[in-house]
Amino acid sequence: DLNPAALMRQTLLGMSRNDQLRQVIEKAPVSRDVVHRFVGGASTDEVLRVAGELVDTHRLVTVDYLGEDTLDPVMAEHTRDAYVDVLGAMSGAGLTQDGTVEVSLKLSALGQALGRDGNRIALDNARTICQAAANAGTTVTLDMEDHTTTDQTLSVLHDLRQDWPWVGAVLQSYLYRTEQDCRDLSGEGSRVRLCKGTYKEPESVAFQDKADVDRSYVRCLKVLMEGQGYPMIATHDPRLVEIATVLADKAERSEDSFEFQMLLGIRPEEQLRLAASGARMRVYVPYGDEWYGYLMRRMAERPANLGFFLRGLATR
Ligand code: FAD
Repeated sequence: DLNPAALMRQTLLGMSRNDQLRQVIEKAPVSRDVVHRFVGGASTDEVLRVAGELVDTHRLVTVDYLGEDTLDPVMAEHTRDAYVDVLGAMSGAGLTQDGTVEVSLKLSALGQALGRDGNRIALDNARTICQAAANAGTTVTLDMEDHTTTDQTLSVLHDLRQDWPWVGAVLQSYLYRTEQDCRDLSGEGSRVRLCKGTYKEPESVAFQDKADVDRSYVRCLKVLMEGQGYPMIATHDPRLVEIATVLADKAERSEDSFEFQMLLGIRPEEQLRLAASGARMRVYVPYGDEWYGYLMRRMAERPANLGFFLRGLATR
């Protein structure tokens, strides 16, 4: 592909999975401003403060402890414990009632990639976190990673929902399979976050053209809005936000029967506008030290973010 934007995106997504580069960049003295625009701090105390500020400005929050592709069972347990800890702290601060602050998990950070037992280990760790969320009166959403993990993640979702029907899923409109997955997950009580998808995926499984990904997003939105579940519209795309609003009206949905979601630091003024209009608006807040993969995917999505990042590196 000779299109420079597409080439840049592919390169950055390739870099997001490069472990040597990760080690160099994570240790580089990156300006705190750069990381802090997109990451809600390193510790539980810091993310507690960021979440509190968002809630004070009428936004809901989902907190993600950064980390992915863990190949060490001890790291997976560490991630599990970090979630239990942050849920306890958020609950202690009165932030979790009615799901005001919830958590998002990556199963690959909880051990999914640990060989043959990976799925069971990730499921056990996720169960501990779901129980902690239930104690705090809030919910859990399972992030979706690359397409090789989609079936496993949906199977873990199915198991968790037997005990905690409020566990949410993420579906990615760039995958051909997603419209059907939306139908399967559009029943009563089903929480589904619809996003475009952020991994580098082959043509055999995913639309490559942005316009096709957007068209698929609209088809999926229709299925979710007309269904009985709770759609979570995760996009910064103004056109899709507008279309979602129209489809919600058409399906005669009340304002509390769906929500918008955006990432920390991206279109904050639009987040405030939607919240002020009476819509439910949730901000995804990643925190912790392992910000490399997350930040590189944000760079791949928007070269303007890359400039901001490089300037931050250069000013130290
Ligand atoms: P894009 O196509 O990136 O952008 C469309 C338009 O939005 C742009 O043209 C511009 O008008 C506007 N826009 C975008 N960024 C900016 C900006 N920085 N400033 C101003 N305008 C901007 N992906 C996964 O694969 N798995 C997940 O589990 C997952 N969880 C997510 C959770 C949340 C809450 C969100 C918001 C995203 C999540 N994603 C996830 C990422 C998602 O898949 C996309 O990669 C990401 O949201 C970028 O796509 P977009 O819909 O915002 O549209």
